[in-house]
Amino acid sequence: MNRTRRICSSLVFKALLLIGLAALLASIVVVVLSAVLERYDRNAHAQAQGLALANASAAALTPALLSKDDAVVEQTRRRLTEQTGVLGLRVLSPDGRVLFPKTKNQTRYKDQGFTRAVRTGHASIQVRGGVLYSSVPLFENGRLSAVIRHSYDLTLNQASLLALIIKNTWRGLILLGVAVPGGLLVFIRLMSPLAALNQAAAQAAAGDLSVRLEISNNDELGELSSNFNTMLERLKSNFDRTRWLAYGDSLTRLANKTAFNEQLQKYVRLDRPPGALLLIDLDGFKRFNDAYGQEEGDRILTIIAQRLRKVLAAYAPKFAAAAGKARPLLARLSGDEFGILIPGARSAPEIQSMANAILDEIAAPIDLSGHNACLSARIGIALYPHDAGDARNLLTSVNFAIDEAKKNGGATWCFFEPSMSQKAIRRMTLQNELRRAMRENEFVVHYQPKIDVREGTIAGCEALVRWQQPSGKLVGPGEFIEAAEESGLIREIGDFVLEESCLAAARWEEAGYNCGVAVNVSALQFASNDFTQAVFKALDRAGLPPSKLELELTESVAMTNPERMLEQIGPLREKGVRFAIDDFGTGHSSLAYLTRLPFDVFKIDQSFVQSMTEDKHARVIVQTVLAMAESLGYRTVAEGVETREHFAFLQLHCCDYVQGYYFAKPMVEAELVSMLAAEKENLTRAETPSFAEAI
Ligand code: C2E
Ligand code: MG
Ligand code: MG
Repeated sequence: MNRTRRICSSLVFKALLLIGLAALLASIVVVVLSAVLERYDRNAHAQAQGLALANASAAALTPALLSKDDAVVEQTRRRLTEQTGVLGLRVLSPDGRVLFPKTKNQTRYKDQGFTRAVRTGHASIQVRGGVLYSSVPLFENGRLSAVIRHSYDLTLNQASLLALIIKNTWRGLILLGVAVPGGLLVFIRLMSPLAALNQAAAQAAAGDLSVRLEISNNDELGELSSNFNTMLERLKSNFDRTRWLAYGDSLTRLANKTAFNEQLQKYVRLDRPPGALLLIDLDGFKRFNDAYGQEEGDRILTIIAQRLRKVLAAYAPKFAAAAGKARPLLARLSGDEFGILIPGARSAPEIQSMANAILDEIAAPIDLSGHNACLSARIGIALYPHDAGDARNLLTSVNFAIDEAKKNGGATWCFFEPSMSQKAIRRMTLQNELRRAMRENEFVVHYQPKIDVREGTIAGCEALVRWQQPSGKLVGPGEFIEAAEESGLIREIGDFVLEESCLAAARWEEAGYNCGVAVNVSALQFASNDFTQAVFKALDRAGLPPSKLELELTESVAMTNPERMLEQIGPLREKGVRFAIDDFGTGHSSLAYLTRLPFDVFKIDQSFVQSMTEDKHARVIVQTVLAMAESLGYRTVAEGVETREHFAFLQLHCCDYVQGYYFAKPMVEAELVSMLAAEKENLTRAETPSFAEAI
């Protein structure tokens, strides 16, 4: 039904209908016109025939009339009357009387034809009621002697108009036969530019703006085609500009995240050729941005983009054969994150080689106003459809891979493995559990004594968080700190430990025990703007003297943003809060730089302490750190002291404090308090200090 309606309303149909109607009308006109003309022609012919017959009759009668023999005249007249079409033949006297046939009726002919013939002496005709009346004058010795009055039936040879129309219909049919195909030919020639225009417009409407019309005529249609082409060019340039604004990254001139995601949706499907997704994250780019300013930061990103382009240009041809029509795409996805989608890439060694080339390019020094900046990056790699059959899951997979690369340190790449997502699920479950534990107050603080090596007394303690599960199981921080850091929950946990520790230390102070507390500070906690205020608040609320509080930061926290660190710890140090570098020696920081930071204590990492007895290098490191701390005026704490040998070595090299299972494991507050009480009692009785035996 719809199709019929569409055909009926189409221009071609209307034009064909018009041509058909015009041809039909023209045929009818031709048929009627030819019928009328034929009728007229036949009439004229009949008149001529009638007149000729009249003249012949006059010629035939003349000798009879000259003979003056009435019988001969009458006989000739009768013979002539019998000719076909002749209605009557009379011989009239010049005054109009009927001489032959003889009649008694004496009426005289005075009609126009007769009178004109008598007057002019020439034959005259008159047509009336389908009859041709001819008057032919006859002369005898130059004198008008008679007039032959001849009547001839004109209708004899005539057909009706309808009969003539029917007879002439073949002419109409021929005309129709010629006019319709001819009209069609002309129409098709006229319509072909219009059809091309229509087709081009349909293509443009379907999104192909590259279509152009061929201009072969100089007429209005040619002008229309040329205008159409100009319109498409403008449209395309506007479209390209809009597309660039929507899909381009103005800084690096690469594609942006929107474009990248669209391409992912298009290519990462089971029915498309396989490929790889590389996610590249610059390590510590923020540090460069902060140190050199945003302008230089932008320059770094532009240079990195150029280098990535170079690597992609070198590697893309290797994957092109398996990529079909799909093209590789390089995009900047966020500040310092880039993505490369390479359809056709499925050979792990080739992809690894490309990832290494990227790492090398990124590692090449960048000249920043006279300084050489050396960057590194980590790369997550996921293959499709092997690792994920759609864009969303592929992105999740590649993010797992980049997280893993992050864990393995910077300047590295990592392929996605299914175990990563299982780990991630476990991590998410753990994070939810931790949130619940926080709400249910399941976190508790244990304290591990720090022993003064010279005195053999408890000089303080380190607060260490534990998760007391409803089942009764006590979970150590090693199992949840990382998940708490990832989820940001570490801030709440850290605040809780800080407040609890300050309150506990204040209670010990009030009870007369000389025992400060050291609290671990996470990177997130330290990065928050209100860190300094939060520490002052905890001290105030507990009423603890700042000198009784020590805060432990790891090397990496201290080195992430040294300027900011100084701002954060300055006011606290002024009030007497001490700062320790925890796990000293494990963070790969510049020793020269580290020792310039305003810290009070180095906590030598337990990995060195525990391997000291077997590993010469560890021994040298511990020895060096202790010597360096002594000459620079830092206090030292050795953690993880498990044996008498550990302790003996540390004592020999003048370590100030020791902490470890050899003396005491982390314990609940009550246990520590009874330990402090026992020690105080011993001291008042001037007996040997509690740990003297161990020492
Ligand atoms: P850390 O700050 O280096 O703490 C010392 C770790 O060494 C503690 O482990 C402690 O129980 C353990 N330790 C002490 N002596 C010995 C020993 O002789 N042998 C052995 N093998 N280990 C010993 P713990 O309590 O499991 O804590 C592990 C880490 O978790 C801490 O390392 C610290 O980085 C973090 N942590 C603990 N509590 C908190 C907290 O409240 N906040 C933050 N941010 N981190 C915490
Ligand atoms: Mg610590
Ligand atoms: Mg430590």
